[in-house]
Amino acid sequence: MANRPSGAEIHAMRIRKLKQDMEDAKRLGISHCFLHMSALAQNTRRDHAARHGLLYSGEEMLEWWARDGNDLECRCTAIMILTDEQGNPRTPGIIAKVKAALERYNPDPS
Ligand SMILES: [Zn+2]
Repeated sequence: MANRPSGAEIHAMRIRKLKQDMEDAKRLGISHCFLHMSALAQNTRRDHAARHGLLYSGEEMLEWWARDGNDLECRCTAIMILTDEQGNPRTPGIIAKVKAALERYNPDPS
């Protein structure tokens, strides 16, 4: 039987990956930000879903996960997005697709 990882284990992995991305980007001088992606499940917290498709710095992601129990049973993820000299995403198409998924998201179908 496959071992089912706990929420704490998943969160530790998520933070490790985020910090690794932040370190690599700093070392290589890559301008970037992070795209917040929510699981958009039936039980997703509204304030987690509200961040879906928004862009944050790595520090902002770490700070958000560290407060208000946001790390508990959280299925969100942060994906590194490369930015140009003006801070604009180099892959705006991906962000538009992610935002479109939030528009289709309806946690309370009636
Ligand atoms: Zn979440």
